[in-house]
Amino acid sequence: QTIQGIHWDKAPCRFCGTGCHVKVGTKDGKVVAIAGHEDAEVNKGLLCVKGYHVGGILYGEDRLTEPMLRKNGKLEPISWDEAIEVIAKRIYEKPKEFAIYGSGQWTIPEGYAAQKFMRAGLSNNHLEPNARLCMASAVTGFISTYGVDEPAGCYDDLDEADVIILWGNNPAEMHPVLFSRIVDRRSRGEKVTIIDIGTRRTRSTEFADHYMNFKPQTDLAIANCIAHYLVENDLYDKEFVSKHCNFRIDVDDETRDLMGRPSTFEEYKENLKTYTFEYTSELSGIPEEQLKILAETFADKELKITSLWCMGMNQHFRGTAINRLVHGIHLLSGHFGTPGNAPTSLTGQPSACGTAREVGTLCHTLPGGRLIAKESDRSDCEDRWNVERGRINPQIGYHTVKMWEKFCTPADKGGDISTIFVQVTNPGHTLPNLAKLFTAKEGLDDKFLIVSEVYPTATTKLADLVLPAALWVEKGGIYGNSERRTQQWFKQVEPPGQAREDAWMTIAIARKLFEMGHPGMKDKNGDFLFTVKDEQGEVVPIWDYDHYHDINTDKALYEEYRPFSHMKHKHVAPYDVLVKSQGLRWPVVEQKDGTFRETRFRFSEFDDPFVEKGKGIQFYHSVTKDDKALIWFCPYEDPEESPDEEFPTWLCTGRVLEHWHSGSMTMRVEQLRNAMPGAYVEMNPQDAEKQGLNNGDQARVISRRGEMILPVWINGRASPPEGTVFVPFFDETKLINDVTIDAHCPVSKEPDYKKCAVRVEKF
Ligand code: SF4
Repeated sequence: QTIQGIHWDKAPCRFCGTGCHVKVGTKDGKVVAIAGHEDAEVNKGLLCVKGYHVGGILYGEDRLTEPMLRKNGKLEPISWDEAIEVIAKRIYEKPKEFAIYGSGQWTIPEGYAAQKFMRAGLSNNHLEPNARLCMASAVTGFISTYGVDEPAGCYDDLDEADVIILWGNNPAEMHPVLFSRIVDRRSRGEKVTIIDIGTRRTRSTEFADHYMNFKPQTDLAIANCIAHYLVENDLYDKEFVSKHCNFRIDVDDETRDLMGRPSTFEEYKENLKTYTFEYTSELSGIPEEQLKILAETFADKELKITSLWCMGMNQHFRGTAINRLVHGIHLLSGHFGTPGNAPTSLTGQPSACGTAREVGTLCHTLPGGRLIAKESDRSDCEDRWNVERGRINPQIGYHTVKMWEKFCTPADKGGDISTIFVQVTNPGHTLPNLAKLFTAKEGLDDKFLIVSEVYPTATTKLADLVLPAALWVEKGGIYGNSERRTQQWFKQVEPPGQAREDAWMTIAIARKLFEMGHPGMKDKNGDFLFTVKDEQGEVVPIWDYDHYHDINTDKALYEEYRPFSHMKHKHVAPYDVLVKSQGLRWPVVEQKDGTFRETRFRFSEFDDPFVEKGKGIQFYHSVTKDDKALIWFCPYEDPEESPDEEFPTWLCTGRVLEHWHSGSMTMRVEQLRNAMPGAYVEMNPQDAEKQGLNNGDQARVISRRGEMILPVWINGRASPPEGTVFVPFFDETKLINDVTIDAHCPVSKEPDYKKCAVRVEKF
């Protein structure tokens, strides 16, 4: 649509997992205007401050525009042909020592290209998305509860719920448009109660009816306390539990199996006995009366309750356990499966669901919920990719922390990853314990870091080869947001200089390897793995950038991927249907009249087409194969590190409203940079006074791993309790991950960025 010389097209926002629908205005080859899409179901015309400035991220002054190879310590321009050859040679020589580290910002076609290249092409499973750092615990929580990943509910629950419970979650800053959807209801006279359970006050707390401040890690005990109250007082939903649930228990040993061991209701009840109000209050710091409010809320069957969480529960030393427990109290109390009753995790990235989870770019997964470890899943993928049986390596790859540990360790000491190709993420900024997992690469001459990026970052500083990437509407794409909604957009402007699409880079490298005779780059017919044909049946040489846009390569890759989504009933919509929509929530099923219908509420007969008639609720991918979900018992366990005499303070890290993740995009937008120019350490006034610190003073935040000097902001945006400080991580001049710990959940392998022990001193 063109109005007054401005052409308008649609795209999802480039930032968080909310997936707001943006109207993009372009003129003379530039993005000149941004608006919220007034008809959008997700955001109903609104955007947050980042969304309104999303167009600005394309136009920072220091965009990377040409490939650069490090020679004698300095990055020097080279051609794309040379760059592709350098990469292909490294892979050809040591294919098993190569890894790809991507992200939940990969478009679905980009992630799918990387997936196919690694699994089918190189028989190599060292493929990870940075989503391991943000939602892996949500995945293990869903899979070990329902047998299949991703939320049953959707954002519509927020319009229906009587009570919203925020579990360590700050949507007012992290998912602002979703939060405004809740708060707006109050301005229309609707009653919606917000219960904020957190380790520090946030801007969300300002809207909460109840704020419950808990000591880090004790959310495990709080969830168990609610279950204990329901069970001891016979207030759980007996009918729901007997029809739809079985019990499981976490295996208390080093190995921590994803599926634990079966348990009985009696054993469950017995295990919960410890978690009285008294014990839990003592442990968590939440007064007993507040714990009672929480437990009685779940006991009230008339109320509709939606739980929301994001990094507070996922970046958790026992992330899988707390995810399971929150699902468990919803199941136990029957607050599940009707509009407004849902346990719902939110994602931080625009396609953490679409690309990391659904395409399966984690080191142990294959597309559509298949697993590397399962022979039938591997064979199925091998057949679909038309490669011989056995091509996919049965050994799962290295998860993120392991991958970077191996990369940063000399080869003679077991460091068997020698080349990592980073796409669409900034690990030199966002990995925990950076000295161990990133900076240690310096001086290891046999290690080679390839980075596809849009701007110079903390990661490109150590890169050996930098590739300029196209960003957002400089390419087409498809994202999948937090509520299972798949959204498509077209390329709307040209990327600067020689910047190119990440999917093209992967395919061009694959082609070079094919030409070098790498056997993995051929299918059973001897054809190139990424062979696509035009409508006349002619092969389009998409590996040659001059021809990459001769066809819609996004569509070709997506349509190749789409049938994979059917195995676990995650039917994503056809590309052409997505083009005409603002995204559809899977499973999307074709109707008799040829239209396609989305699903808002999974596992519920009234909405989910895969639930058998008369079942009401059916967990059709049940772990126990009897259509039942699992209610878990997982005990409270101490965190890896707690404050002590030497390091007496908790450190929590996170985001701020104005910046998205490492700030590599939002810090290039003047308005956002000016609104929040740098990181700080947020302190409680009493703690600051004890150290003789005032607002603006420089403080050293020191841990066992490193230290960072930061200006003090007393109280900050909210107010951390005594003994806790908060530092945002967006500022690349103050890398707080030099300080954070790399301890991680034993099941999900997701690191804990929310708690480690530090000392704060005046600098
Ligand atoms: Fe919406 Fe998130 Fe983008 Fe803000 S950053 S406009 S909430 S998708």
